[in-house]
Formats: sequence, structure tokens, C-alpha cells
Amino acid sequence: MSDCIFCKIAAGEIAADFVYQDDDVVAFRDITPQAPTHVLIIPRRHISTLLDATPESGPLLGRMQQAAVEVARREGLAERGFRLVTNCLEEAGQSVFHIHLHLLGGRRLSWPPG
Ligand code: 5GP
Ligand code: ZN
Repeated sequence: MSDCIFCKIAAGEIAADFVYQDDDVVAFRDITPQAPTHVLIIPRRHISTLLDATPESGPLLGRMQQAAVEVARREGLAERGFRLVTNCLEEAGQSVFHIHLHLLGGRRLSWPPG
């Protein structure tokens, strides 16, 4: 999608602090970090929201989760713990309409989230 900021980041058209890349998934640090580790894991292919994922998207969603766990290990979070979050639509706080996982860690995270 030509007007999608995360498509542009995945294509290298907008700079980002990448921490993981493979053929299907890229991960980069959030520009407004909410924790010592705050990384966004996105598919290279544009999917707007979780509601737009299809059964065929299942393996890709799985690869995003595996990439997130790999980044968590690299960030030293495998022992202390971390959180993966996907916000879906405005009421949940989604502001970028290209599906993404937030990887949060490095501090104690409260529950329930706000
Ligand atoms: P959402 O609110 O959709 O769940 O998450 C979008 C996230 O993308 C926010 O945490 C926001 O800080 C981050 N973000 C928005 N624009 C950019 C950008 O240009 N670069 C990076 N690295 N993060 C961004
Ligand atoms: Zn996109």
C-alpha cells in the first residue's frame, strides 16, 4: 500500500532501527518506546488489521510470533519475561493500520492494561 508507513519501513523507504529481518517479517524499534524493549514485528505484506487476516494468513501470523520470540531472546528477555500485544481498531488503540505485534519488556508490566 503506497500510503502505509509500515509498508514504507518494510521497503526501506523510511528509516527504522531494524532488529530482525527475513523474507516475510521485519522488526524494528518503536519510535515512542513504552518500555526498555519496545519492538514492532510486522509482515512485509500489507494486512490492515487482525480482522483482515484469512486462514491463509495463519502461517504468516505464526512467523511473526516466532520472530518476536527470537527478538525477545536477543534482548535478554527469555528469563525475565515479555509481552506481545496486537491492538485491533481504534478503541483498542490501533493507530497504524498495518498489522503488527508490539514486543514489550525490560520492566514490570501492569495488568490489566489501560
Ligand atoms: P498501534 O497504536 O497501531 O498499536 O501501534 C503503532 C505504533 O507504531 C506506535 O507505538 C507508534 O509509536 C509506532 N510508530 C508510528 N509511526 C512510527 C514510525 O514512523 N517509526 C517507528 N519506528 N514507529 C512508529
Ligand atoms: Zn502496509
